[in-house]
Amino acid sequence: MSQVCDDLIAFLDEAASPFHAVSGLARRLEQAGFQHLQRLDETAFEPGAGYFVTANDSSIIAFRAGSARPEDGLRMIGAHTDSPNLSVKPHPVKTRSGVVQLGVDVYGGALLNPWFDRDLSLAGRVSFVDADGNLQSRLVDFRRPVAFIPSLAIHLDREANKNRSINPQTDILPILSGVSEGDSEGMDFSDLLAQQLRQQYEDCESARVLDFELSLYDCQGARRVGLDQAFLASARLDNLLSCHAGLMALLAADSAHWSLLVCNDHEEVGSASAVGAQGPMLMDVLDAIAGSAPISRRLREQSLMLSVDNAHAVHPNFADRHDDAHGPVLNRGPVVKINRNQRYATSGEGSALMRLLAERAGVPLQHFVVRTDLGCGSTIGPITAAETGIPTVDLGVPTLGMHSIRELAGCADVDHLSGLLTAFYNRVA
Ligand SMILES: [Zn+2]
Repeated sequence: MSQVCDDLIAFLDEAASPFHAVSGLARRLEQAGFQHLQRLDETAFEPGAGYFVTANDSSIIAFRAGSARPEDGLRMIGAHTDSPNLSVKPHPVKTRSGVVQLGVDVYGGALLNPWFDRDLSLAGRVSFVDADGNLQSRLVDFRRPVAFIPSLAIHLDREANKNRSINPQTDILPILSGVSEGDSEGMDFSDLLAQQLRQQYEDCESARVLDFELSLYDCQGARRVGLDQAFLASARLDNLLSCHAGLMALLAADSAHWSLLVCNDHEEVGSASAVGAQGPMLMDVLDAIAGSAPISRRLREQSLMLSVDNAHAVHPNFADRHDDAHGPVLNRGPVVKINRNQRYATSGEGSALMRLLAERAGVPLQHFVVRTDLGCGSTIGPITAAETGIPTVDLGVPTLGMHSIRELAGCADVDHLSGLLTAFYNRVA
């Protein structure tokens, strides 16, 4: 059994929100000797040493300083920390029909049907005033089933298997608790969060909660499935699988050249935010590494970025949704994603380099082009390429059920991707 896959499973279970993903990545980086920088200026980067910065607790950039000059180019890997989910509204509590429910928003392009009939929990970041009157934020994770969205029984909707649609405002409010008869007040959600803070942190005894960013998640953890255990079923494979593979590769990278990993929040909602791929975070780090702003044209030209995000595997029940010559299969290697209309950033030269790299790394490679009569998704690749001017290749592991509460990838592909990314950092090609 692959150690990389075991650590990925542990990471997926820990990373219930983008905040928890960044904290899990940061902890692994610190364990490997990477230094958490609070400021980018005034730091002299030692060749071979590792550094990282975070923003909003939900985006992170880590890099290993190389012996070569930054002008000789950086090898960069990008991924995203967020996944589609149900996010709790600011005034969420609704008391009706004998239960307390939570008002939720849909974050990103979530597939809504799979959220019904699951044991759900809550995780995210809570902001509060502490005993000294200071504003603070901490991560919370209830780590137990505290919510549930029951389906409407088929007896009450005979058309359910043919044409049931979901109204996100009215149909997917989770039940949080029961209400005792005569109790019209319901529940104070801030009190509930303060209680959770006290449970998790000794110094939060008198925390007064002011606000929060919380999302629901499925309590069922990541696990290998299939008679031959060939597949990995989990929430948030898109795109925590890639964040984790990038991290594994960075930890294994040699220090001849500079290697960098950027994991941004907000990809699922378009990346246009202070800490998203369209924000200034990556350019700030590149400026600091280059010691000049803007970075030199030579640094741009010599650098290369792999934007790693999951690719649609061909679904055996719906094989006609793929172009018949470009249908990636689970466990047959990472997928280079190509779209001539620049929904993906991969050029012919970039794709050719990936073929050579995969060949030399002994990793199988597949290719994806969307059907010409279907719209193409996008990812951080084209955005980062446009922001930095650095050539970029889009690739990722083939995945089924993308944006469902539980997605499916191939265990062998986890190792294939880590191998390919390590070879990329170490300039095997
Ligand atoms: Zn993605």
